Amino acid sequence: MIGNLGELVRSEYIACDLCGSTDHEIVYSKIDHVTGLEFNLVKCACGMAFVNPMPIDESVPLLYPSDYLNEKPYLGQLFENMLRLLPQLPKEERRLLDVGCGTGHFIRCATNAGWNAEGVDFANWGGPKDDLKIRLGNFPLMNLPEGYYKVITSWAVLEHVRRPSFFFEKIGRLLSENGTFIFTVPNIESPGMKLSCDEDVPRHLWLFTPSTAKKYLARYGMEVRAILHNGKIYRSYPFGLIRYGWNVLVMKDEAKCSVYQNKSVSLLRNRSVDVHFRQWIGEVVKSLSPWDIFIDGLDLALGIFLANISKLMKNYGVITVIATKNGGA
Ligand SMILES: [Zn+2]
Repeated sequence: MIGNLGELVRSEYIACDLCGSTDHEIVYSKIDHVTGLEFNLVKCACGMAFVNPMPIDESVPLLYPSDYLNEKPYLGQLFENMLRLLPQLPKEERRLLDVGCGTGHFIRCATNAGWNAEGVDFANWGGPKDDLKIRLGNFPLMNLPEGYYKVITSWAVLEHVRRPSFFFEKIGRLLSENGTFIFTVPNIESPGMKLSCDEDVPRHLWLFTPSTAKKYLARYGMEVRAILHNGKIYRSYPFGLIRYGWNVLVMKDEAKCSVYQNKSVSLLRNRSVDVHFRQWIGEVVKSLSPWDIFIDGLDLALGIFLANISKLMKNYGVITVIATKNGGA
């Protein structure tokens, strides 16, 4: 199965979506558990990090197993935290678009909270859609009313799209004057995140920083109001640093995730710990040596410690950005 999928994926070298540079430095390479292919994460001088060569448009859907979103738990608290970030508006102005709405759970919650909420996604991920307004297709090319939406949200989506600039541009057009854009993206500048293999490469095609997020927004007429580093929407941990230190810094090996990633964490394959904890522990005990489990345990403790420090430093591994469209000129 994996072999066949890997043969279908085609990739190409690309320039940086933010600054156009073709001069990039390899951060690490990682073997993808879905396709079996090895992908490079590269870093650009402007601050963006991305998968290069990058799968072409037609190949991107092949990176997602059919149960991709089923593996993420439905967490009522998560959607409550998202709703709390929305601005207070009179009922007739509560027009919301959720870009990359997935199963539609957030639109459902927003609708229940009195919002006129719509969603867009490139694929149908299943879920309780029935009466929800969800359009499927290529968002930047969709025919949607410009200057109409008071709020646009995009939860952990912009890192998955091939051309983030197309999304920022479209969102800038669709927002009403002084409208609010709220999104979460990975922050590669957070302590340890650049070296950690814990990012979901190659599904995460682009990794941002607070400053690159600001540059994208400014380019398309939006301005940052706040950047939250509290981990209340999505969490992120820099795992793999202990083996990185030993294998890459001391032993001078190439930076390959297959060598230095946290082996126990990699067995999760992006499944949620909350849902799969017992199954995961079973797999860890069955497939790893006591020594590896010991090192992974230390590494987990270090990753959790650094993630908490990064919240205090206001440089967390997943940032929630709240921006507004500039009114007037
Ligand atoms: Zn760049």
